[in-house]
Amino acid sequence: METIAETTFENTLEFAKSLDKSDELRNYRNEFYIPKNKDGQDSIYLCGNSLGLQPKGVDSIMHQELADWKELGVEGHVHAKNPWVSYEELLTEGLANVVGAKPSEVVAMNTLSVNLHLMMASFYRPTKERFKIVIEESAFPSDQYAVESQIKFHGFDPKDGLVILKPREGNNYILQADIDQFIEDEGNSVALFMLSGVNYYTGQVFNMKHIAELAQKKGCKVGFDLAHGVGNLNLKLHDWNIDFAVWCSYKYLNSGPGAVAGCFVHERHGNDPDLPRFAGWWGHNKERRFLMEPEFEPILGAEGWQLSNVPIFSSAPLVESLKLFEEVGMEKLNQKSSKLTGYLDFLINEIPTDRIEIITPKDPSERGCQLSIRVKNADKSLYEYISNQGVICDWREPDVIRVAPVPFYNSFEDVFRFVDLLKRGINQ
Ligand SMILES: *Cc1c(COP(=O)(O)O)cnc(C)c1O
Repeated sequence: METIAETTFENTLEFAKSLDKSDELRNYRNEFYIPKNKDGQDSIYLCGNSLGLQPKGVDSIMHQELADWKELGVEGHVHAKNPWVSYEELLTEGLANVVGAKPSEVVAMNTLSVNLHLMMASFYRPTKERFKIVIEESAFPSDQYAVESQIKFHGFDPKDGLVILKPREGNNYILQADIDQFIEDEGNSVALFMLSGVNYYTGQVFNMKHIAELAQKKGCKVGFDLAHGVGNLNLKLHDWNIDFAVWCSYKYLNSGPGAVAGCFVHERHGNDPDLPRFAGWWGHNKERRFLMEPEFEPILGAEGWQLSNVPIFSSAPLVESLKLFEEVGMEKLNQKSSKLTGYLDFLINEIPTDRIEIITPKDPSERGCQLSIRVKNADKSLYEYISNQGVICDWREPDVIRVAPVPFYNSFEDVFRFVDLLKRGINQ
């Protein structure tokens, strides 16, 4: 993989523009609507890790579904341009490619926290000897609530059952060596490793393949929350032998607020119809679904975890968005991403100040798009300053500004202009 040496970067607008000029993905910016600032110019949108921008093609597919409903009513299930009865299948190939899975291993359904629970219903099967779930410090709150409630649901106390991996004293993120050591020492008591692929707060990427390998040797199940991983990292979930994964589609997958989420179940589990699960009619044998029989017979593969019929209006944008991912592929996106974020890192480090510190790992294999910038004394006025100047990013309590240049629609010029404003904010 290409990573540009930092010494070849230059801290000038001309240089940023020259990087844009030689960027073969530069025209994809035109495929998205960029929110405007108060002067009617493109804002500097660095919040694709929270809500991805709208692909221009979404309008037309949404109108297609509305028109089919208007004109066909219930018959749209079969006669719509994209028949609703099998709508999830429109998403399968694209999702499989984005996460590095076989088509039978993925399904679009529900929303993320719901899928997390459904997966834990199957893969968190605690016993007296082995009942712990491991998450990382500063995991997204929803994940922590979900995990704790699962532990309690099975009659265990989260005080004993929930293990939170923490960075060493003085470190901003968790060292892989410490995770390895933990697995070696405590793996036998762990039922489930439920880490994020990318931590939402620090931006740290975990070595999923390595963790799965070590933890599975100890008999643990290994699932990942890929809310910040999907559409950001070049994932290989099948080859990495991950047991299961879940994600949402409104962050890097650009599918709009509350969009349908996704799920990966490795085929060695998906092909086991006896695996315990919470069932619903949409997971039932497709040929016999409408015979309305009382006996549940799961579809083999991830589709067998579906409960309800497909939410068409929250799935249509994903159909459109995945076409762009199909066109470009994660490898190219990832290459641009590491250069874009590398440039951001370089420019921030050029600011002579001790008011800020990047807490995201420096090694490109340990981060995706996002950099998390810790502000000294939790001084939020810096964030307020750049926001007033047309930067859209976010502040995460207690003291972090998160910025995520997205390879599909952010430019090197965006990155340059952002750091220029950050510098002004620091010096004012
Ligand atoms: C964004 C995010 C969520 C949000 O969950 P929803 O169910 O989509 O509201 C949960 N977990 C993580 C790690 C996230 O980044």
